[in-house]
Amino acid sequence: MFLQRSAVAAARRAAVAPVLRRSLATSAVRRNALPDQPKIKTLKDVKVDEDLIGPGARPGTVPTDLEQATGLDRLEILGKMESVDIFDMRPLDASRLGTMSNPVMVRSAGDEQHAGCTGVPADSHNVIWLTMSRERPIERCPECGSVYKMEYVGPAEDPHAHDHGHGHGFEEPKTFADFVKPTYY
Ligand SMILES: [Zn+2]
Repeated sequence: MFLQRSAVAAARRAAVAPVLRRSLATSAVRRNALPDQPKIKTLKDVKVDEDLIGPGARPGTVPTDLEQATGLDRLEILGKMESVDIFDMRPLDASRLGTMSNPVMVRSAGDEQHAGCTGVPADSHNVIWLTMSRERPIERCPECGSVYKMEYVGPAEDPHAHDHGHGHGFEEPKTFADFVKPTYY
């Protein structure tokens, strides 16, 4: 009943608005060309979590990544379709040695970030993994001395912060870096 009524209303509107009638005709043709074709939300349509759930595969077909991927995986695929590198997978700047006054910046959306240094120029030494955190953002490669600094780009308030004991008396373990006099930098 509802459908019938709205169809009548649409027909009435179409009678007085030729532009609308054209758009109705176009969508009807498109639907006929691709039966049951689900609408894929593009990057600009993503506003809430539910927008990152795929339409799924049509019955009797094997789903593609675009049809079945959800969450961050889906966000990455939608980004790739529009040449947007969601997770910023480019290698770090290896054109220069990072220093304390001008470190190589490492962006992180989480509390902690690992970065692999291979020296300057790149691949001059084996990969050495350095761990930076929001509490301890600066790290220095023990092989080549390059300095890296984490730039936090995540949400301002971590809703899970109370689960990890931050600000509850937990103290970072000391390393040799804590005992280096500032004058030696
Ligand atoms: Zn290094």
